[in-house]
This record gives sequence, structure tokens and C-alpha cells, in this order.
Amino acid sequence: MEPVEPHTTPGAAPKVRARAVTRTFGHGTRQVHALGPLDLDIRHGEFCCIVGPSGCGKSTFLRIVAGLVRPSGGEVEIRAGRRHPAAMIPQDYGIYDWKTVLANVRFGLDVQRVPRKAADARAGDWLERLGLADFAHAYPATLSGGMRQRVAIARALAVEPEVLLLDEPFAALDAQLRTILQDELLAVCQATRTTALFVTHSLEEAIVLGDRVVVMSARPGRVIAERRPPFERPRTGAMRRAPRFAALHAELWELLRDEVQRAGAGAATPAHTVGKPS
Ligand code: ADP
Repeated sequence: MEPVEPHTTPGAAPKVRARAVTRTFGHGTRQVHALGPLDLDIRHGEFCCIVGPSGCGKSTFLRIVAGLVRPSGGEVEIRAGRRHPAAMIPQDYGIYDWKTVLANVRFGLDVQRVPRKAADARAGDWLERLGLADFAHAYPATLSGGMRQRVAIARALAVEPEVLLLDEPFAALDAQLRTILQDELLAVCQATRTTALFVTHSLEEAIVLGDRVVVMSARPGRVIAERRPPFERPRTGAMRRAPRFAALHAELWELLRDEVQRAGAGAATPAHTVGKPS
């Protein structure tokens, strides 16, 4: 399993470029140094997975890339084309229960003041792609967890973001559904050449999905290693049984174990997850 060196790419212009990014919360004796300094480049169209111990600053980093949180130091640049810079799918999906499925998917377009007819057409197209067309006028409370997650994916992709940010989006789903949604997500990201930054607790999920797996240290999170899973796409379930899969999984866990212990998650943590069972 070849290490990827370095995690910044001199010369090439990356889609996302993070340099010396730090974030602290609070003041004085209660100050928490949550993140960094962190350097990371993500190429256009790359699917980059981030793993790291609980509390190491993964969500904070995503929120900084999304523009929802300011870094305390350093900078993040998204090389923007004509598309919307970034869309984020948070852990709780972030969909609105009082809006219909269609209105949820149209939400970002409404914010961008896309004319109603065009917004309806684009939202309808995404509902179709994610198998939700029959539920356009349903309310999220009537949907299963997997369908709610599809609504969140459709809503994020409808704004055609340069970068899709996903914070453990499948953590609450059962294993079968997670596999189906992983495949769907990969297919749409590849079809639309969307750059993705995906945070997960599951090493297996990171290996299945990632062009690259970035390993973060315990808080304050920094990049300590990167690996490129050596599997062709489309990746199938069979790859999970390949010796190279087990070897990469073991190697990543080896890199993480000390960090997880430092983060106080303890030795009882199962080896296939980072900090908590998935
Ligand atoms: P992760 O996603 O890796 O689990 P987070 O980015 O959520 O980690 O949090 C990193 C650290 O920053 C944690 O110690 C967390 O308690 C702290 N933190 C995150 N957001 C805030 C906030 N808004 N106020 C204070 N502390 C925060």
C-alpha cells in the first residue's frame, strides 16, 4: 500500500487548498485548540475520505471548508468555476421536516434565487436520479432513514457544488442500506465530476469510497498520513474480501491506534472503527 506523499501538490492547482488551518474555541483557561495546523490539497473530482479519532476536529474542518466557521489561522481556498463553492451534508441530514421533499431539494436553489420553474425542474431531476420522484410532495417524517438521506444528498447536489462535504452521512443507517447509498453517492459524484470530502468513523467505508484516505491525529487534528486504496472502480463488495483490503485496513488502524488512545477513546475500541463503533 503506497503512502501518498506529499498531501499538498506543488505545481498543480487543487480544487481545495487548505494551508496552516487552525481553529480554537473559547477563551483563557477554557480555550480548546480543536484543529491544526492542517495542510491539505484535494484534486478536482477526487473523493477524499478523512478518518481520525473522535473530537480531533474533522467536523470543524468540514465546517471551515463550507464557510460556516472561520479558521483562527491559515486559509482555505476553493478554486471556483461557475458552480456554487460548497454544499454540506451534516450528520443529522439537515433536512427540514416542515418542507416537502421537493421544497427541501429546491431549498439551496431558492436561496440562490434560481427562478421557480427552473428550480423545480432541477430539483425534480435530482429526485428522479435518487429514486425519490414519487415522494416529491411527501414530508420527510413519512420517509425511511435511507430516503431522508437521499433527500439530503439530492439537496446538496442540486446546487451543483464545486465540493460536496459529507460528515458521517451514513452512520445511522444499517449496513445493507449504507452499501447501497455508498454506491449511489459514488456514481453521482463520478458522473458529475464532483469533488467530495467525506468524514467517516469507519475505516472500511473510507477504503471502499476513497480515492484517498487521509488520517488525522488526535486533537488538535493534523494530517499524519495518507493512503490511496489500490482498487479499480467500480469497486464491488468482493474487494472487501481481498487480502489487499485487509492489509490496508490493518495498516490504517496501525496508524490510528495511538491517536485514538491519545484521544482517550480507549483500548476497547473495535479495530474496524475510529473512536466509536459504527
Ligand atoms: P470531530 O468531528 O473530529 O469529532 P469536532 O470538530 O466536532 O471533532 O470537535 C473538535 C473539538 O472542538 C472538540 O473538542 C469539540 O468539543 C470542540 N468544539 C467543536 N465545536 C465547538 C464549539 N462550537 N464550541 C466549543 N468547542 C467546540
